Amino acid sequence: MKNLRVIVAGGGIGGLSLALSLHQAGIAVRVYEAVRDPSPLGVGINLQPTAVRELTELGLGDALAETGIATRRLNLCNKFGQLIHDERRGLEAGYRWPQYSIHRGELQLLLLRSVRARIGDDNFRSGLKLTGFEQHGDRVRVSFADRRSGSQRIDEADVLVGADGIHSAVRHQLYPAEGAPRFAQQMLWRAAAEAEPFLGGQTMVIAGHFHQRIIVYPIGKARNGKTLINWICQKTVPDRAPPREDWNRRVAKEDVVAAFGHWKFPWLDLPALIAQSPDIYEFPLVDRDPVAAWSFGRVTLLGDAAHPMQPIGGQAGSQAILDARALTRALSETDDPAAALVRYDGERRPAMNDIILRNRNLGPEAAMQLAEERAPNGFACIDDVISRHELDAIAGSFAAAAGLDVETVNTRPSYVLPAARARA
Ligand SMILES: Cc1cc2nc3c(=O)[nH]c(=O)nc-3n(C[C@H](O)[C@H](O)[C@H](O)COP(=O)(O)OP(=O)(O)OC[C@H]3O[C@@H](n4cnc5c(N)ncnc54)[C@H](O)[C@@H]3O)c2cc1C
Repeated sequence: MKNLRVIVAGGGIGGLSLALSLHQAGIAVRVYEAVRDPSPLGVGINLQPTAVRELTELGLGDALAETGIATRRLNLCNKFGQLIHDERRGLEAGYRWPQYSIHRGELQLLLLRSVRARIGDDNFRSGLKLTGFEQHGDRVRVSFADRRSGSQRIDEADVLVGADGIHSAVRHQLYPAEGAPRFAQQMLWRAAAEAEPFLGGQTMVIAGHFHQRIIVYPIGKARNGKTLINWICQKTVPDRAPPREDWNRRVAKEDVVAAFGHWKFPWLDLPALIAQSPDIYEFPLVDRDPVAAWSFGRVTLLGDAAHPMQPIGGQAGSQAILDARALTRALSETDDPAAALVRYDGERRPAMNDIILRNRNLGPEAAMQLAEERAPNGFACIDDVISRHELDAIAGSFAAAAGLDVETVNTRPSYVLPAARARA
């Protein structure tokens, strides 16, 4: 589309991927990020092969390989560390692209460096928080507050994309009565620590059941043969009032040790990992109900602003990247921006709404809950507890619904053709 200009609110994984995509397609873009000096916040995040394919097509494949760990196996275990299901992941599963487990903050800064280099510093404006927008004919007028001076700034574009996360101001203006995110009465305690590699150094483990479990995986190389291990302890907290989601709120080590101090397996010493972790963060398990539309005229939503989901199955970051690619394709293939946003909405929203609801029922990790219900004291042989057929059905149905199956990822056409190729 000729001379299109897009404003993106939010410079997280989704907003930055969108900026890179639009630039690749020859569409002008400017990103506004509320945080003045983005620093590498967060701990581990997973990039599924479908998203790694997109970042590779954006020229970031080598940088990802240097930063992340190519995950080869996902082991689902019971609360005693007994293996329920060993699933191949990434290249090992036949994908043409790896799955990466990576530090979320490092990934954000990697994307940010590329965005600044490609669209120019003037088109990445930080410290400016979107406060509202108005649509007038074929223009969108967007207001921002300068977080240092408090002064107001205005910018205009043909399209506004709200990539501003679970507390999206764009979504709030579209759905003013929506209220706070939905708290699932579970807390996540999250940290990263340097430790000896476990289970070959490229395995992600989820152990436990619905009400209490751990998610542990390596996210980077460390010194002295050690690896940086991301861990999450997740627990039902029936009486706790919904806390405000804050990715940077620290929690006392004793609280985590009290609940998980005895989770020591032959292949993983969780209490030692907890003890070695410099900071532990707490985050409530939240999502939002699916909505009936993301696109309204020339304004749309992307990533967590569009489909905030429980972090089951390592989807949120990957799906934000897929949103970015689908939206870019829609905008590059028509001269009518509003029609492009409707197309994007129709392509992405039904599947994302489905994942939001599936994740509330443990998604692909439902096998762990089955094992807990059928064999709460452990088992001698998993085949006596869950059949292979049941295990494959659980994993397969989720992958297909999320568009993550090997066949789809390996054979689908590219979403975006670089501008030069597209014009040729
Ligand atoms: C600080 C932080 C740490 C995180 N840590 C983890 C983690 O360790 N593991 C994990 O799995 N997921 C983590 N996440 C969530 C994960 O990044 C997202 O679920 C996923 O990547 C989708 O990304 P997104 O770009 O849609 O949203 P986000 O990553 O949430 O990015 C949204 C961006 O929008 C900015 N923003 C918010 N409001 C406004 C506004 N009004 N105007 C302009 N900009 C605004 C935010 O500062 C943020 O940079 C974290 C998110 C954040 C913000």
